[in-house]
Amino acid sequence: MTQAPPAGVPTTIRHYIDGEFVDSVSGETFDVLNPSTNENYATAASGEQADIDRAVAAATEAFENGPWPRMVPRARARVLNRIADEVEKQDAHLAEIESWDTGLPITQALGQAQRAAENFRFFADLIVAQHDNAFKVPGRQANYVNRKPIGVAGLITPWNTPFMLESWKLAPAIASGCTVVLKPAEFTPASAQLWAGIFEEAGLPKGVFNLVNGFGESAGDALVKHPDVPLISFTGESRTGQIIFGNCAPNLKGMSMELGGKSPAVVFDDADLDAAIDSTLFGVFSLNGERCTAGSRILVQRGVYDEFLERYAERARNIVVGDVHDPKTEVGALVHPEHYDKVMSYVEIGKGEGRLLAGGGRPEGAPAEGNWVAPTVFADVKPDARIFQEEIFGPVVAITPFDTYDEALELANDTRYGLAAYVWTSNLKDGLNFAQSIEAGMVWLNSHNVRDLRSPFGGVKASGLGHEGGYRSIDFYTDQQAVHITLGDVHTARFGAN
Ligand code: NAD
Repeated sequence: MTQAPPAGVPTTIRHYIDGEFVDSVSGETFDVLNPSTNENYATAASGEQADIDRAVAAATEAFENGPWPRMVPRARARVLNRIADEVEKQDAHLAEIESWDTGLPITQALGQAQRAAENFRFFADLIVAQHDNAFKVPGRQANYVNRKPIGVAGLITPWNTPFMLESWKLAPAIASGCTVVLKPAEFTPASAQLWAGIFEEAGLPKGVFNLVNGFGESAGDALVKHPDVPLISFTGESRTGQIIFGNCAPNLKGMSMELGGKSPAVVFDDADLDAAIDSTLFGVFSLNGERCTAGSRILVQRGVYDEFLERYAERARNIVVGDVHDPKTEVGALVHPEHYDKVMSYVEIGKGEGRLLAGGGRPEGAPAEGNWVAPTVFADVKPDARIFQEEIFGPVVAITPFDTYDEALELANDTRYGLAAYVWTSNLKDGLNFAQSIEAGMVWLNSHNVRDLRSPFGGVKASGLGHEGGYRSIDFYTDQQAVHITLGDVHTARFGAN
């Protein structure tokens, strides 16, 4: 089934360097697929060392000699607010492109576009309100902090919610006065093209934002190893994070790593079961299950286990999978045939590791082409199962029973990951203590996955290094230089004065 891209979807995807769209120096390109059909709908410039060199040179020039790093926060904030206005103005169009390119359902892609605008607005507010430490010892010394943008930031992003995750890095990096080179994910390069026009319209000086498309092993690797790029902010798989970590070491770069997850959702007997079922369904099946904070392991206390399974599986079987443009669609097409094969291989592994209650393959009536997976539910999954331990990153959930609070905690912590956790109980004391003991960077207690932009975002264990969110993001992109001034006499031990 051939589908024509919606109006305005870019079919020639290029780099954007120093205010110009350009091809690769080598002229190389790669194909971009539409996940709903796996047809090639666009070609993208494939960046390599030479393209990264050009982009880093432009970003370095803009940092060293351009106005942006030297503008006062209020002036930068005005540009950031105009960027947010532009994103909001185009949100429906952006959602169309994103949904077409990623396979995300249109309503969810729209939500992500709006969140991207909010990221810019938030950091505009933050840099204007920002204050830094100043300490005074009366009559002796004054100390204050000079906050300075660090330089050219390399931003490397994944394909699951491309535009929103790009905004998450672009907004604080640019707000801080850094200049950037963005390397978006090769599966989903389309929406990143829009940044160029949005930034031009908002008045961002040229050279501040540069974009190089291409593969991780070539374009991404060249960016990570570039000696003139002191910062790498990376979101992606834990294994890629390990490689990048090693490649940053020779140049002692600053790194922020947002990595994979296998987050538990723990449902105690005394939980509000209606709320827990709504949230645990959305938690793993929204964004096609391609969500870093997906609650992909559900631990349910024995007293409500059977009822939970029955109600959960019935709802999962009812989830609407299909046309990504239909507002009624709840699960769309997985991003790429390679990823589809990976998710399907876990579905097959799961059949030997758990009791299949829903899904288990392509949805009934799905078109022959495209990366469609029915929401899949496995029960009675043992903690040593691969589907309990490994990140699947698709619409597949493992459910496991437990008897006691201690057993739930042990199961929850029994993976290499530690990104998010969800806890459902009406016992406040247990809930708060459980949240404290769980090895996760973020916990939602009787609460749906919504994050206040001021709060820290990040994982522990194999899920990440460093935290972003609010002032933590500004801290990553800036140096805090401490300045000390003597207010009285200078008291120094007088070496060599006898
Ligand atoms: P990935 O690690 O394969 O790729 C991410 C990015 O890194 C891409 O742009 C890719 O081209 C680039 N890359 C790959 N190898 C590289 C290398 N050697 N040097 C430099 N760059 C390289 O991840 P993915 O498959 O695109 O995304 C899915 C993963 O992202 C999942 O594990 C998911 O949990 C994680 N994720 C985490 C968060 C978070 O905030 N913790 C958010 C979203 C996604």
